[in-house]
Amino acid sequence: MRVPLVVPTLFLLLAVTGCATKSNNATPPPSASAPAASPSPSPSPSPSPSPSPSPTESHTQPPASPKPPSPSPSPKPKTGPGGSYVLTGSKDVALTFDDGPNPEHTPHVLDLLRDNGIKATFCVIGKNAHNYPDLIRRIHADGHTLCNHSWRHDLELRKRGDSAIRDDLAATNNAIKEAVPGAKVSYFRAPGGHFDSDLVGIARSMGMTSLYWDVDTRDWDFAKYGRGQSMVNHIVSTVQNKTRNGSIVLAHDNLKPDTVTAFRYLLPWLKSRFTLVALPPGGLGRT
Ligand SMILES: [Zn+2]
Repeated sequence: MRVPLVVPTLFLLLAVTGCATKSNNATPPPSASAPAASPSPSPSPSPSPSPSPSPTESHTQPPASPKPPSPSPSPKPKTGPGGSYVLTGSKDVALTFDDGPNPEHTPHVLDLLRDNGIKATFCVIGKNAHNYPDLIRRIHADGHTLCNHSWRHDLELRKRGDSAIRDDLAATNNAIKEAVPGAKVSYFRAPGGHFDSDLVGIARSMGMTSLYWDVDTRDWDFAKYGRGQSMVNHIVSTVQNKTRNGSIVLAHDNLKPDTVTAFRYLLPWLKSRFTLVALPPGGLGRT
């Protein structure tokens, strides 16, 4: 996981497409800052390295080691930047699809989820919600959870100042509510996962839980993983190796055909091992 210093520079050049939205019509591209060189929290499966139970301890001998089990090695408070959530808080696994809705790919993801009887969470961009209200309606009607992913995927949103941030998040929620009157949007994911505590606090004050992730498919990183089968293989192996009870899994439903292919394989695999849920209405509680 140690990245040589030259690599981030490469990312800057090659990976600007990252989590950044590519919407179909005239939108100023989100200011070109690198999409978080994914601080994806390594989900160490931490079964504590059991200090082998020394079987031959007789009562008569003074114990050789004065400090036996020691208070195990930090139970890791699992939070993301700014105190955002990386886990669901239960054994349930939550699949999240970001940057849509997209008329070309979102319907395929929805079909796959429906065919497998799986509910998920869609972190939608306000502008896309405004442009494709039918897809927002379908996401909702299919029983998935809607999440605010900002109006235009501004990777620097946290630097915009309180009122601009509120306006952005409110506009996005309004676009969702225009499509689904009465919808309650209880989740927010900062573009690129670029949360800080202020941004998390603002989202909380607007009734939204801030969502980070535990498993990052990096399905946008074509520079590193290529396209087609190599990207599909990368996504499948990442999800299969890293998903554990409670994981929040990050993928994208816009302009990522390889993601659709990968999840065609992954959904039955995941379903046979985990309980997959749409994040619960009303948020996760803490934030
Ligand atoms: Zn995104």
